[in-house]
Amino acid sequence: MAEEIVDVLIIGSGHSGGMAAKILTEKGISCLMLNAGPVADVHKDTEPKPAYALPFRGFSQPGRLPHVFQSNEFNANTWVDEREVPYTYDPQHPYNWVRVRLFGGRSLFWSRQSFRLSDYEFKGKSHDGFGDDWPIGLADLAPYYSRVESIFRVQGRADGLPQYPDGNFVPDESPWTGCMQRFMAAGKQMGIPVCKPRSSLGVDGLASSVNLVLPDAFATGKLKAIPNVVVRELSVDKNTGSVNEAHFVDRLSRREMSVKARVVVLAAGTLESTRLLLNSKLANSSGVMGHYLVDQVYGPGIVCSVPEARDGKATPELIGGGALVPRFRNINSKAKNFIRGYALNVHSSTRPMDPRNFAAYGEELQNKLDSYSGSGFSTSIMGEVLSRYENHVSIDPKVVDAWDIPALRIETKYTDNEFNMARDAVDTCIALAEAAGFEVLSKNYDPNPPGYSIHELGTCRMGNDPKTSVLNKWSQSHDIKNLFVVDGASFVSAGWQNPTMTIVALAMRASEYLAEQMRQGNV
Ligand SMILES: Cc1cc2nc3c(=O)[nH]c(=O)nc-3n(C[C@H](O)[C@H](O)[C@H](O)COP(=O)(O)OP(=O)(O)OC[C@H]3O[C@@H](n4cnc5c(N)ncnc54)[C@H](O)[C@@H]3O)c2cc1C
Repeated sequence: MAEEIVDVLIIGSGHSGGMAAKILTEKGISCLMLNAGPVADVHKDTEPKPAYALPFRGFSQPGRLPHVFQSNEFNANTWVDEREVPYTYDPQHPYNWVRVRLFGGRSLFWSRQSFRLSDYEFKGKSHDGFGDDWPIGLADLAPYYSRVESIFRVQGRADGLPQYPDGNFVPDESPWTGCMQRFMAAGKQMGIPVCKPRSSLGVDGLASSVNLVLPDAFATGKLKAIPNVVVRELSVDKNTGSVNEAHFVDRLSRREMSVKARVVVLAAGTLESTRLLLNSKLANSSGVMGHYLVDQVYGPGIVCSVPEARDGKATPELIGGGALVPRFRNINSKAKNFIRGYALNVHSSTRPMDPRNFAAYGEELQNKLDSYSGSGFSTSIMGEVLSRYENHVSIDPKVVDAWDIPALRIETKYTDNEFNMARDAVDTCIALAEAAGFEVLSKNYDPNPPGYSIHELGTCRMGNDPKTSVLNKWSQSHDIKNLFVVDGASFVSAGWQNPTMTIVALAMRASEYLAEQMRQGNV
C-alpha cells in the first residue's frame, strides 16, 4: 500500500464522504475511501431480537453509551463505544457526542429532516451584526441543494417564505388533520407560520450514502473502499507543504499502515475531521481550528392533550401528522432578549400518553392515562446556537483511544441567548396551544446538553480571510491546497435547520471544484 499513490483519499463514508466519492469518481478520478468501522448488513443487522435474548433485557449496558440518548441494548452496536473512543469535558458542562462508525456513518440512522439554510443564516452578521457572514449565500448553494434534494427525494410543500427556502420537492399532498388546522389557525392569529415538514424519502425509508450515492461511485470502477481502518494522522511533504500521506491502523489486527495520496478529502464528521487535523498539527495557521463549535438547542417544548380526542374519541381526521414552524423571530422585528431564532417541530399522536405528564399516582394515574390516551400533541424547539470562539475542542493531553490516538476535549456551553430563546419558544408554544383549545400537560424550559441535537458543526469554519478561517469558500484549506474538509466542520453558523442537506450540497460543490482544479493541474 505504501508504494501506491492514490489520486484522492476520502476519509469517511457517511453523507459527506459518499457525495464526494460520487462526484469525483463520476468525473473519472480514482478514489480510495477509508472508514473506521465495519460494513453493516442493513437488513440482517436490523432483524429484531427478543428482550430476553439480551443480557441487559433491552436496557443499556451501564457506562458504555452514557451520552447517546437514543441507545438501548437493541441498537447498542450501532454507536461508538465511549470506552473505546473516549472524549473528555468539564463535568459541569457535559457534551453529548453521538457517533456511528459503521460504513455509511450516521446516514444509516438519521431522522431525514431536510432543510435549506436561508440568507438569514448565510448572511446573519449583515442582518443583526453578530458573528460572521458565510463567504457564500443561498444563491451559490441553491443549484446544489436542488440536485441533492432530487437524489434524496426530499418531500415538501412550497411555502414562499424567505426564511424557509423552497426546493426541488416531491410534492407533499397529505391533508392537515383537525388538530393541526387548529394550531395553524392559532399561528395565523399570532403571525406565526405553520408549514408542512420536509424530509428525505430516500428509497424504502433509507436515505443513506450506502444506498443513494455510493452505488453510483462503485459503478464507475474508480472507487476502492477499506472498512475497519482508523486514520490516526496525516503528514505533509516537507518540500512542497502539500499533504501527501495518511497513517492508519487496522481496527481489529492493530496493524499500522499508510497510504500516499495526491489529494485528501476529510469527511470523518465535524469533530473527527477536526481531531485528525489537530493531531496532525496541520492547516491551522489561523488558530481558529477547533473553535466556534455549534449545534442546535434541543429539549424545550410542551406536551398537550386535544380534549375532543379523549376517552377513545380520537379519529385519523382529528389526530396525527406533523408540522414545522420555521423561524419567525428576528425576521421583521427584534425579539426582546435574544438574537437569531428557532423553529418548532410539531407532532400529534394516537399513541398512549407518557405517565410523566401527569401529577398523579395509582388508580388516579391509570384513569388519566386511559382517558388521555390517543389525544397527544407536542412541540419542541430547534434553536440556533451562536457561534462563539470560546466554545471549542482541543486535544486532551492525557486520554487516548483504543489505538493510542489522542482523544478530543470538548469545552462548550450555552449562554443567555440560547436560554432566553428556549424560554420564548416554550411560552410561545403554550400561547399557541391554548389558542388552539388544547390542554397543556407539561412544559420543559431546560435545554439538553450541547451536542444532543447530533448536529455538531463549525470547528474548521470557512471564510475569505485566511487569518480568521480554516477553509476557503470551496471547503479547501487556506494553508494546504490539496486538503479539503467536506463535512459540517466548514459551517460558519448553525442556523435552526438540521444541517445534512447543507453538508451534502457543500460536499457536492467542493468536489466539483476539486475535480476542475485537478483537471487544470492546480491541485
Ligand atoms: C439519530 C440521528 C438522527 C438525525 N437526524 C437528522 C435529521 O433529521 N436531519 C439532519 O439534517 N441530520 C440529522 N442527523 C445528523 C446527520 O446524520 C449528520 O449531519 C450527517 O449524517 C453527517 O454526515 P457526515 O458524513 O459528515 O458524518 P458521519 O455520518 O459521522 O460519517 C463519518 C464517517 O467517518 C468515519 N470516520 C470517523 N473518524 C475516522 C477516522 N479517524 N478514520 C477513518 N474513518 C473515520 C466514521 O466511521 C463515519 O462512517 C441525525 C443523526 C442521528 C444519529
